[in-house]
Amino acid sequence: MDLYEYQARDLFAAHGVPVLDAVVADTPEQAAEAASKLEGSVVVVKAQVKAGGRGKAGGVKLAKSPEEAAERAKDILALTIKDLPVRRVMVTQGADIAEEYYFSVLLDRANRTYLAMASREGGMEIEELAVERPEALARIPVDAITGIDAAKAQEIVDAAGFAEDVKPQIIEVIQKLWTVFKSEDATLVEVNPLIKSGDGKIIALDGKVSLDENAGFRHPGHEELADKAAADPLEAKAKEKNLNYVKLDGNVGIIGNGAGLVMSTLDVVAYAGENFGGSKPANFLDIGGGASAEVMANGLEIILSDPQVKSVFVNVFGGITACDAVANGIVQAFALLESRGEAVTRPLVVRLDGNNAELGRKILTDAKLAGLEQVDTMDGAASRAAELAAKGA
Ligand code: GDP
Ligand code: MN
Repeated sequence: MDLYEYQARDLFAAHGVPVLDAVVADTPEQAAEAASKLEGSVVVVKAQVKAGGRGKAGGVKLAKSPEEAAERAKDILALTIKDLPVRRVMVTQGADIAEEYYFSVLLDRANRTYLAMASREGGMEIEELAVERPEALARIPVDAITGIDAAKAQEIVDAAGFAEDVKPQIIEVIQKLWTVFKSEDATLVEVNPLIKSGDGKIIALDGKVSLDENAGFRHPGHEELADKAAADPLEAKAKEKNLNYVKLDGNVGIIGNGAGLVMSTLDVVAYAGENFGGSKPANFLDIGGGASAEVMANGLEIILSDPQVKSVFVNVFGGITACDAVANGIVQAFALLESRGEAVTRPLVVRLDGNNAELGRKILTDAKLAGLEQVDTMDGAASRAAELAAKGA
């Protein structure tokens, strides 16, 4: 989960990383009020979107009065940056910038470790710098157990070549940023720019943080950082029901058991869809092993509440949970959905294979469920589901 800058700033502040005062605002009036509360003669109005390059896109502006802050907020709230509409701004104290540096620590998957990066030349051109003069961006592996302690911090500032007068402060700040990274279970903490102010203080002026959602159980507070307004409503509903569902933008609903099977089902449906006007998978949904009737019903309910879905492909390979159990689950799910007033009205193609496939197929044949067809092969079933979706469009 990526955080907004203001959320990253709050986490920094909570862990003692030096930041400037800031207030968020959803309207120009709130921005003016925020500006009047902040100390100093200059404030900065900053777009809150989960994208880099806000400065270059006109999303970061200075203002010298509350009126001016309102005007800048009005301009910025009308922007769309990298396809993301700006819904909120952060108004912060204006910084007197003497130098702009760069620091980040992230999970380095390829090398199975963490990696710290630092440069004396931070700011808006950091991507260009990394490509054109990679030597100006120090890259130091960080061990997961020792992390960024005083010695590692010294190694990082030496490698980046910071001036001696700022090294002690930067050493302190990057150890705190490591504390943010570790104790919040982040996969990325990036500060660009990390500045030296006119009076020689090191301050984090921007913050980009990604949190590891797999560690969410350790952080009850992280849930409220999730952006519910921007989240897909179907995904939110699926999450409430503990379903592994990802919304896609096609017209064939997909249910399968096992992530690998579902992934290959998406491919097979997309491939088959090329023969039927471009039918595509509408979602990823893995109902896992041991899928009960209720899980099947919840899964079908989520998929069918997507109006783009014109057909559904249930692709099951019976293992420990045999096909007869899954077939009974489908039959009960139809009844359950009907009792909820959400009877299945769109065509369903079911492919059962594996353990007790014959028995499972017989159960479905005998149940004579309206709109349900069985196809014995995965390719054949994908093709039929794609065809039915094209017809239903
Ligand atoms: P980004 O473009 O999305 O990374 O947004 P940043 O928060 O990094 O801001 C972009 C640039 O705006 C920074 O590199 C600074 O040069 C400038 N900037 C941001 N805040 C201030 C400030 O308080 N005072 C001044 N003078 N410049 C600022
Ligand atoms: Mn930045």
